[in-house]
Amino acid sequence: MFSRFLTFLGVRAEDHHLVRPALLRSLAITLIALVAAEIMTWLFYFGAPWQEMANVLRITGIITPTVAVPLIFYLSWQRIKLNKLSVQLARLASTDELSGLLNRTSFIEAMSDRIMHPTTPDGRGAFLYIDADHFKKLNDDFGHAAGDEAISFIGKVINQNIRETDLAGRLGGEEFGVYLSGGNSSLARSISENIRQDITHLKFDNQKHRYTLTVSIGIATHRAGEMPSEFMKVADKNLYLAKSNGRNCIAA
Ligand code: GH3
Ligand code: MG
Ligand code: MG
Repeated sequence: MFSRFLTFLGVRAEDHHLVRPALLRSLAITLIALVAAEIMTWLFYFGAPWQEMANVLRITGIITPTVAVPLIFYLSWQRIKLNKLSVQLARLASTDELSGLLNRTSFIEAMSDRIMHPTTPDGRGAFLYIDADHFKKLNDDFGHAAGDEAISFIGKVINQNIRETDLAGRLGGEEFGVYLSGGNSSLARSISENIRQDITHLKFDNQKHRYTLTVSIGIATHRAGEMPSEFMKVADKNLYLAKSNGRNCIAA
């Protein structure tokens, strides 16, 4: 019933649960305003005949909540909406639209933060530098939309293969990074291998060309406190090694 009324007022179903706290806050603030208004009225009319005093106190008691409840509710509601928008905005600003992963800046920031506040006592971690193979050829032979589809697919595969505590981002173009909190070299290898294999499931085929999406991965592990710029360089070198070893492979 109440829910239907809210829908009638134009409140979206997903926001219904926000109405109650806004309403309770408005009532609490109104109560304070009411007490203040009554005290002020009493002070203004101090010394007036009792009947007159009772009348003005009654009038104040009606006017204050009538004005305050809708006004404070409206302001509380706007504040809730603003908070929701700012959360959405922060998420949009940190996400790469095509891959659904973090963008480069947010990924490196999150990784640095994770290193400063490690999730395991030894403070170690592993980094995977992932680069799609012959991506220029995919664009040339099948068009830019196919390339975009591949980037979005890589984002999904990476997300499916990492844990809640790990981080993944698009570093730019057809390059991606994964940070495994507390990860060692064997975990990095096994997650890399799963990602590498899953990515080969996306294939493109037309009368002239065939292309199977593959990636090369460079791995680096780091000790406690080591900064991303240091181990990303090592992973980059290993990625180069994987490329020279024929691509579609992992180097550590
Ligand atoms: P390698 O195996 O050595 O990595 O070769 P590659 O062709 O993947 O590498 P190269 O750096 O020569 O080319 C990368 C290509 O990725 C060129 C660029 O047009 C394409 N690319 C970068 N960002 C995007 C994107 O957002 N969408 C699409 N469709 N293509 C992109
Ligand atoms: Mg590249
Ligand atoms: Mg590439």
